[in-house]
Amino acid sequence: MGLLQNYIQNKILALVGMAAFLSLAGMVVFYTSHQERSIFLHQHNSIGMLNQSIIKGLTAVMLTGSAEIAQTYANYLKEGKDLSEVQIMRVDGVEAFRDNKTIREVNRRIGEEEFMPRSGERRVVIMEENSPHLRQALESESGISYEESNAAGERFLTYLTPINNGEKCFKCHGKAQKVRGLLKLSTSLASVERDVHETRMQAVRVLIFSLLVLLLLTFLLIRRVVVRPIHRVTRAMMDASQGNLSQKVPVPGKDEIGRMAESFNDMLHQLLNTYMGLQQEQDKLSTIILSAREGIIVTNRDGVVVLVNPAAERILEKTTDELIAGGFEQFMDDPDFVRTYLARAGTGMPDTLVYKNKVVNLYISTIWDDDKRMLGSAALIRDVTEEKKLEAQLREMSFTDALTGLLNRRRLEDVLATEFARSRRYGYTMTLMMFDVDHFKKFNDTHGHDQGDRVLQAIGAAMREHFRKTDFPCRYGGEEFCVIMPSTDMDGAYIAAERFREKVENLVIDGLKVTVSIGLACYPKHGQESGESLMKVADNALYEGKKAGRNRVIMAQ
Ligand code: GH3
Ligand code: MG
Ligand code: MG
Repeated sequence: MGLLQNYIQNKILALVGMAAFLSLAGMVVFYTSHQERSIFLHQHNSIGMLNQSIIKGLTAVMLTGSAEIAQTYANYLKEGKDLSEVQIMRVDGVEAFRDNKTIREVNRRIGEEEFMPRSGERRVVIMEENSPHLRQALESESGISYEESNAAGERFLTYLTPINNGEKCFKCHGKAQKVRGLLKLSTSLASVERDVHETRMQAVRVLIFSLLVLLLLTFLLIRRVVVRPIHRVTRAMMDASQGNLSQKVPVPGKDEIGRMAESFNDMLHQLLNTYMGLQQEQDKLSTIILSAREGIIVTNRDGVVVLVNPAAERILEKTTDELIAGGFEQFMDDPDFVRTYLARAGTGMPDTLVYKNKVVNLYISTIWDDDKRMLGSAALIRDVTEEKKLEAQLREMSFTDALTGLLNRRRLEDVLATEFARSRRYGYTMTLMMFDVDHFKKFNDTHGHDQGDRVLQAIGAAMREHFRKTDFPCRYGGEEFCVIMPSTDMDGAYIAAERFREKVENLVIDGLKVTVSIGLACYPKHGQESGESLMKVADNALYEGKKAGRNRVIMAQ
């Protein structure tokens, strides 16, 4: 069955064989039966004609009145080899010319001893008087024919023909009976059957031979026209599936197989183009991965590391071999972290870690294909140490004043709000100090703006040195400064302010001197709403100090 299913050639051969067998067998059956019929017909005709000749001969003999010759004639016919049985009988089925019944009748009719009775009289019954065949033959005009078999199974064709009473017979036999007797003629059908059998065997031989020739021709034709071209295309397809895309199948013509070969060549061409495109993309990707500043590690679906780029080696300070040997989960020497990160798909995991004195940005992910099948894992590692440093610097810069290095006004507002809230929450006192350089416009006019800047820098340095580490010295803007003093009451703040005023008064900068006027406001005494309200009170106190003659400390009332 496999042989039939696995090869087109065998399927076609089986189908053609079946169809040819049916049509040839049909033809053979039709022609042999036709042949048989004509053989039998021929046999019937010849026996029929022989029958008539015998009857004519017998009648001629009888008319001469030579009944004895008739008997000799009958015996002579019996000896013939072609016929199995020749019998002349009376209408009662008894053989004629054997007994004296007829002779007696004739002599009685004619009235004289015309015919001598036989001496060796014998009564031989050939057919029973009432046998159906005999009755049928007598009733018919020209006789019947039928076939029958003997005990050995041999078939016989029998003719039973009536010998009619004619005018010329009346003299001896009278005219009472219409029929005088019957001629029984039997011949074996064995030779005819042999002929028929031979014809059949011949037909079967012709059938087998034609079938074989047809199958052979079909086989050769299929091989040439179908199987070989298909084989060529199939071989090329197998080749292509092994990766050989740069080949061409010969196109055997314009039929279906030719078109298939052509389409296959087109397909290979397309595949080759796509493959080359993919190769180029892969080259590009490889270049990008190899030259990327980010470290990249990729595994296959079994978790085996298959790709490590130079950046990964550099950041992790490990060689590719070490990373492959250690396995994916060990790339940062913390397998638990990698496992948890993958299990949670990164949710709730820190993306920045410190590893080997570097700040490292990390992204780990499982790679899935379109059918949600795992293809592998990938880790992206970025060394952000320098970035973090820069970021810190920037943040610092955004908080501090460029000229003095003190906190700037923006930062001051944040700190003031925080410290005010903290004081209110815990019931601490806090003091806000504001001061302004006296006659600084004039100083600038006299000594130049640069000199003015240097004075402001010196005041900033003095503030950093003078106030506590828990205080927040700020530059409010221009030549106005401010100090937030948490957990500091009025008296303490006043002492610190007064000492600072003295310090500035005694400060000599490039041989020059300045003074400052200071205003103080205290929480909760001078403002309880917000840091801003406290600032306003301190500013008012400062203004009071200016009015009162400058270079002094004024506590808000
Ligand atoms: P007062 O005693 O009333 O404060 O007199 P003043 O001249 O200081 O008056 P005011 O505070 O109104 O003037 C501020 C002056 O400070 C104006 C400007 O010339 C000077 N100034 C402000 N910011 C800077 C700065 O960043 N550098 C320098 N060199 N001078 C500044
Ligand atoms: Mg001012
Ligand atoms: Mg001033």
